[in-house]
Formats: sequence, C-alpha cells, structure tokens
Amino acid sequence: MEQMELYTIVFIAGLIFGSFLNVLIHRLPLSISLFNPVSSFCPHCSYSIKWYENIPIVSYLLLKGQCSSCSERISVTYPIVELLTAAVTLLIFQKQPSNYEFFLLLGIFYTLIVLSFIDFKYQSVPSYLLIIVVIFTLLVGDTMATLMFMGGFVLLELVTTFYIQTIKARITDNPELENQRALGEGDIPIAGVIGGLLGIQLGVTAIFVAAILALIPAIYNLFGKKEIQTPFIPFLSLGLLIVYISEFNLFGLFV
Ligand SMILES: [Zn+2]
Repeated sequence: MEQMELYTIVFIAGLIFGSFLNVLIHRLPLSISLFNPVSSFCPHCSYSIKWYENIPIVSYLLLKGQCSSCSERISVTYPIVELLTAAVTLLIFQKQPSNYEFFLLLGIFYTLIVLSFIDFKYQSVPSYLLIIVVIFTLLVGDTMATLMFMGGFVLLELVTTFYIQTIKARITDNPELENQRALGEGDIPIAGVIGGLLGIQLGVTAIFVAAILALIPAIYNLFGKKEIQTPFIPFLSLGLLIVYISEFNLFGLFV
C-alpha cells in the first residue's frame, strides 16, 4: 500500500478513536454508563445525536458547532480532542514501534488525553485512570526509571508542601496555605509514565518543557488577578509528547 494511503487510514482511525475518547471525557467524571445510552446526547437538551451528526470533525463543521435540536453551542473541545487523537496516533505510528509497543503506547497517550481534558475541566481525575496508565507504562517502558521518577516526585511534593504549609504560610500569614499541597494527585503517576517512556535525560527534559509551558497560564492568571489553579497533568502530558516525538534532549545542549 502507498505510504500516503496508509497514513490517511491511520489518521482516520485516530479521529474515530478521538470520538470515543470524547465519550470517556464527558461520561467518566459524571459516572454515566459508556453504553447506556449508546448514542451520544446533547448535554443541554438531551437530544439523542444521530449517527450522521456524530462524524468526527465533519459533523462539527456541518452543524457549525451547534446542536441541531436546541442550537446550543457544542464545545470546541470535541473537534480538538478528535484532531489531537488523530495526530498523536499518526505520530506514534510514524516512529514504527512493534505492534505490541504501538498498542500500549496508544493506550498510554489516549489515557493521558482523557486525563488531561478531565483535569482541565474538574481539577481532579479518576484514580483508576492513573493506575491504568502506570500499568501500561510498566508493560512497555523502563521500570527502574518509572519508579525513580515517581520517587523523585514524592520527594519534591514532600519538600515543597512542607515549604508551603509551614514557611510560606507563616511569612504570608495565610492560614489557608496550611492545608495546601504542592502537587496534584495525578502528578506523581504521570511523572512515572514520563520516566518509564523516556528514560532519565529525556524524562527530565520533558518535565522541564512541561514546567515552561505551565508558566504561560500561570502568568496569565497573575495578570488577570484570578486565582485559578493550573492543572499540571495536561502540561506534563504535552511535555512528554513533545519530547517523545522530537527526542529533544536538554542535556545534549551542554555536552
Ligand atoms: Zn441540544
């Protein structure tokens, strides 16, 4: 088969998987069954969406981003998740992993997409998704590096939480800080995924890239004077993806 045809098929398959990830993103946090109702429904008017209104990207464009029943806006995250999933699927495929690796890598990156979008919306994620993504990583990645990165993040969390709860809380005289933790619940397992897939040098690079990317909304919040907690899982996942694809190595710059 022509390479271009193959890539097109992989991309379209990715779009369809993306459509399924949308279902997970919108149903898992609300504990709605994945199979009942089978067809998707409008979250505003509960209109049951017809199959031809549910074609990835195409339907969103044809419907001009509106529900055909109540005309309420359809969230732009739907086509974004579909395109992102398709792009990720194609990028992993182009790295020519073995079949075994390919499906586990898809499992990992798909779970990270679901976790990222749930984290964006709720600032909290289901723990079973974190367990699943770590298990996939142990099956395909470097176990030692997975454990090291998780251990490293536990230490980081202990030290920075101690700093925030005792020192910073006293200096700023803000009792609210006494119960604040430095990292979210999901950051430690995701760090393990990064270490397991990338190894130590690329893994540290990915976390560095994630921290730089996370500064953008943090600075935006600062100037907007809004107290929004920046969810870190999307940025860790993006850092992982960028370094996994580009193999950019921070340490390579100094040698
Ligand atoms: Zn509707």
